[in-house]
Amino acid sequence: MRQVRQSAPSLVGMVPYDPKYMKTETLLSANESAYPVPDEVRAAIQRRIETLDFHRYPDPLANGLRQLIAQWHGVKVANVLCGNGGDELLFDIFVAWGGPQRKVLNFPPTFSVYETNAELTGTQVVNLPREEGTWRIDVDKACERLAQGDIDIVVLTSPNNPTGNATALEDIRRILDASDALVLVDEAYGEFGGQSAISLLDEYENLLILHTFSKAYRCAGIRLGYLIGASSVITEFKKVRQPYSVDAISQIIGEEVVSARALFDEGIVQAKKGRAELIAQLEDIPNVTVYASDANFIMFKTQFAMRVWQELNERFSVLVRDVSGDPRLPDCLRVTVGTTEENSRFIEALRAVLTETGSQR
Ligand SMILES: *Cc1c(COP(=O)(O)O)cnc(C)c1O
Repeated sequence: MRQVRQSAPSLVGMVPYDPKYMKTETLLSANESAYPVPDEVRAAIQRRIETLDFHRYPDPLANGLRQLIAQWHGVKVANVLCGNGGDELLFDIFVAWGGPQRKVLNFPPTFSVYETNAELTGTQVVNLPREEGTWRIDVDKACERLAQGDIDIVVLTSPNNPTGNATALEDIRRILDASDALVLVDEAYGEFGGQSAISLLDEYENLLILHTFSKAYRCAGIRLGYLIGASSVITEFKKVRQPYSVDAISQIIGEEVVSARALFDEGIVQAKKGRAELIAQLEDIPNVTVYASDANFIMFKTQFAMRVWQELNERFSVLVRDVSGDPRLPDCLRVTVGTTEENSRFIEALRAVLTETGSQR
């Protein structure tokens, strides 16, 4: 067999992203919604898909959906760009504003995809770690670093994944004022808490906001996300995006979901209620440290986290996310808020596992 030459140098030593999905009864690892799309929305989607002419390419910019998203958020169509999941748009940011000799300011511990995309595009990562425990960003230090003028992208996740905390709007404003770097505010969990930065758009050309249909809008199985930013910024993204990245079916689903978005509010209310209950129950368990959350998940610290993660899965079929591989998050796990039933199954399983692992030592 003829051998193939080596792949790009940027891939050496890289490990592919693995969400560590497993067949589990209680799936609380990926921050999806606990609820499916409401039946009436499903029915409307089905009716439209039945007559879809999918021998034709879709509208490249998903203009029907763009229009609805723009009206929803009180911006112009030119301020919106849809993508194949938020993840595609997160990659495009590094193609459009990153690259060799360019730098991104990052606030770990945070979503690992940013650093991966930086590596893939040869963008240098400047890390300013969050404060341990509160997981707040150090705004003074960030502004100081930005004043050097060499940062091209800032990635600020609010609420942050996996720590759960949102960043105050005044802090975001200070970051925006500190330089002309493109500041991405990743609001993938914005519906669950924190203040949206959308209200700052009129004042800042350097502000870009990411939203997704995967979390509050219960559509992780299709891939759909969008950016909101200045039209001059959106124009640059049009240059780098895959022309047909949002397929016709996703466009239809997106349109129906946005049109019926009020029907999704109940799920958001339930997630917030479940979050408060879960936090109270976790705080009640000895040797567990719980961190505040503005999202639909909670990070907590426990002894022997890897073992706890494994036993939750193997013995109770409860899957949470092990984030303890991050050197800044030793012994930390992340649990998604599920249905009331799923939440109690998780708490019961965790209590059982901790009682046993505790008594064995
Ligand atoms: C889930 C998530 C996204 C978006 O994910 P998609 O499913 O690709 O839309 C973006 N940022 C963060 C921090 C997330 O957790």
